[in-house]
Amino acid sequence: MAGLMRTTSRSESENHFFGKWTSPHLTLVEFSHYDMAIVYQRYVELKTDHDSRFRKPILKKDLQLEKEASVFCTHTLFYDVQEEIYSSYTHCMSVNILHIDDVEQYSIRDMQAENRISGENNFVVYQVDFRKSEMEVKCSFKHYEAYGLLCRHIFYVLRMNSIKEFHRKYLNKRWLKNAKPSNSSVSRINVESGLSLQSEVFDLYEIFESTVDRLVNNMDKLKIYKDEMNGLLAKAKIDVPVLPKINSKDVMSSMVGVKESKEKNINNPDQSINKGIGVHSRWRSINEVEKKESDKRRTFSKC
Ligand SMILES: [Zn+2]
Repeated sequence: MAGLMRTTSRSESENHFFGKWTSPHLTLVEFSHYDMAIVYQRYVELKTDHDSRFRKPILKKDLQLEKEASVFCTHTLFYDVQEEIYSSYTHCMSVNILHIDDVEQYSIRDMQAENRISGENNFVVYQVDFRKSEMEVKCSFKHYEAYGLLCRHIFYVLRMNSIKEFHRKYLNKRWLKNAKPSNSSVSRINVESGLSLQSEVFDLYEIFESTVDRLVNNMDKLKIYKDEMNGLLAKAKIDVPVLPKINSKDVMSSMVGVKESKEKNINNPDQSINKGIGVHSRWRSINEVEKKESDKRRTFSKC
């Protein structure tokens, strides 16, 4: 969801997260909880990744669309999609259909949206335009444009047209299980390798995924492709017999994009002012203070 957040929202989210682990009254030793917060965040990420890949969510209806969503989407997003599919059954109703050229315009009444609005006769109707020849569908609610997820009104129209599978262009990549490469090769890229190597690796992932997407419905060709990939893997094992070890410093450098300097020049910090604000006066010694006081007394005696 971070991709949808504004910078301030992201900052607020991080502040809230770390605020649970830290306090302004902590000592320096106790501030080590900050590391625990990072470790906990990584644990949660790994757990949700694992759950998305290896656990099957509970299906509410025996629908092909719902099954596909459970296969492709991460768990969190699947439950959002499931809620929209379920709501298309329980809260939506088609009240009008128009045919304009090759576009069908559906007026879909959303009864749950009406419940949120007080008063009587507050019909909430959204318009869904469906071009079946191109499999293009748009809803005036603009849920897909805002969040990248199809809304209940679109699911209602898809069901009316007996469409049982997700069209690939409406499976937004950022919500899919394979959005983050599971392989650790990306973490092997260090800063010295530069962006060109990183770009090559991401291109390879893209080629692989696009090829599988094209062949996924053709088992014979998919097996041929798999054999060829195994051949390439065998050749790569001959070319590079030992897998290079991952250096944790290199991983950190690749994450932050900065290489650790070999020379470390540490300068003394600027003199701090911890008494008053912006007053650059020197602290006087006791002798100087006493001399000044005695000078004042002498002045008074003259008067
Ligand atoms: Zn909608």
